Amino acid sequence: AAAEPKTIVVVGGGITGLAAAYYLRRSAEAAGLPVRVAIAEASERLGGKIETLRKDGFVIEKGPDSFLARKKAILDLAVDLGIEEELVPINPSGKKSFIVFRGKLHPMPDGLMLGIPTEIAPMLKTGLLSPAGKLRAGLDFVLPARKGNDDESIGDFLTRRLGREVVERIAEPLLAGIYAGELDKLSLRATFPQFREAELKHGSLILGMRRAMRRRPAPAAGAGGAAGQAGQAAQTPADAILARYKGAPFLNFRRGLATLVEALERELSGAEWRRGRKATALRKGAAGASDEPDHRYAVVLDDGEELQADAVVVTAPAYEAEALLRDHVDCGMLRAVRYASVANVVLAFDKASFGREFAGSGFLVPRTEGRQITACTWTSTKWLHTSPPDKVLLRCYIGRSGDEDAVSLPDDQLIRLVRHDLEELIGVTAAPVMTEVTRLHRSMPQYPVGHVEAMRDFKRKLAEALPGVWTAGAAFDGIGLPDCIRQAKETAEAAIRELCG
Ligand code: FAD
Repeated sequence: AAAEPKTIVVVGGGITGLAAAYYLRRSAEAAGLPVRVAIAEASERLGGKIETLRKDGFVIEKGPDSFLARKKAILDLAVDLGIEEELVPINPSGKKSFIVFRGKLHPMPDGLMLGIPTEIAPMLKTGLLSPAGKLRAGLDFVLPARKGNDDESIGDFLTRRLGREVVERIAEPLLAGIYAGELDKLSLRATFPQFREAELKHGSLILGMRRAMRRRPAPAAGAGGAAGQAGQAAQTPADAILARYKGAPFLNFRRGLATLVEALERELSGAEWRRGRKATALRKGAAGASDEPDHRYAVVLDDGEELQADAVVVTAPAYEAEALLRDHVDCGMLRAVRYASVANVVLAFDKASFGREFAGSGFLVPRTEGRQITACTWTSTKWLHTSPPDKVLLRCYIGRSGDEDAVSLPDDQLIRLVRHDLEELIGVTAAPVMTEVTRLHRSMPQYPVGHVEAMRDFKRKLAEALPGVWTAGAAFDGIGLPDCIRQAKETAEAAIRELCG
């Protein structure tokens, strides 16, 4: 008789959960293992943080707004799903961005890589730093590397290498934009391990990052590309995409990031869906009905249903994962990952009455400026697919770790605050023709110092206490969409290997 299929329950229908379910089915098929995959998602809507609003010719991202192209897990997935023709690159002429300093916009100095200077001349010229601040940054060339192998905060590390001014005025607004975090609390190793490697290898962060910048594959011309040279490994489909978009650092889809979610949903049509159903407990050693084989676990849903499972993949945020796992394993690591709340306000204007040209992709506002908005993206310039040609689309960000009160204000107050900052900073007085407010409470995980070690330790203990139960997603090993997809794929492959024995 055919083997009973193994049942696998995925908790969470964000990008990690959907990608995990997809790769679970693919890996099982490749291994010849019959499986049934069930997906429990607390909300009626799939996608988690990803949410695209398509309205009146606009494509508005309410959560993440694009992804880093060079992290290939997401490109591989786009190819697997057959949606690579939908990809669109960031507008190359909309790359220039600005930083606010003492209420004025300053161009971001050229040559920055993740907020770290790699060229001297633009740093000497910039009005963002005082002469003393520039000299202090230059000490990076002579200061010895820190001894020891402990993790430290990004804030401590950058201040040690480049001085307080570069951190407050350039690096913090840029890096904090990614994590909505306080640099003095975020783990260097879990966020930007390449900074420490640069220090150790080159004795200088600036020199190390400059090398890394130069090592980046040059935009490959035509088929063949950087990886397709004679004698080298064959070009992968992801390499071909990178070559096609000539090194565009960020990509999206013509109809927004929801394209990815919709394609996964289509591929997973044969899965067992439990939408609008929250997993509330995980039980060990659950026995199925008398005529069914025993299963290792049961995932209990909020309506009392119990999903029998041979394996479970938990992709919920740390605070939700903790509720499922704390009876079985020490969840100190999950509690240590705190979440920042953020909001964003999208404003659309008629170009004809907007009365303002802006040559760039937006601007960042350092904490020290004391503004409500932390950044503003000139979305219609940065992403040409997002807006009809006669409109201007802006997206303003609010809230960062330790400064989150405004996130809970009512819509009209948030819009008023944003319009006030836009008027003072860039002179926008036109009335928007459309507004869209999105609040993302407890949405940005903050990896504390020591996170990487704590996570490894947690995963080891989990494997001992609950073999066949896995965790993946933004709470663990990278918050970017490509990192979430990479974790989903690695976890799915490991889970199927384990089930195959
Ligand atoms: P989530 O998207 O949080 O999905 C988890 C899912 O689990 C949710 O749908 C939730 O409803 C469900 N769930 C929770 N608890 C339970 C339970 N008990 N039972 C069942 N279901 C449950 N990344 C980029 O790469 N580029 C960007 O531009 C970018 N910008 C961002 C902007 C913002 C404002 C935010 C918040 C994040 C951004 N990110 C960006 C990060 C990225 O969007 C997220 O890290 C990623 O989407 C997380 O995916 P996930 O599946 O791990 O988690």
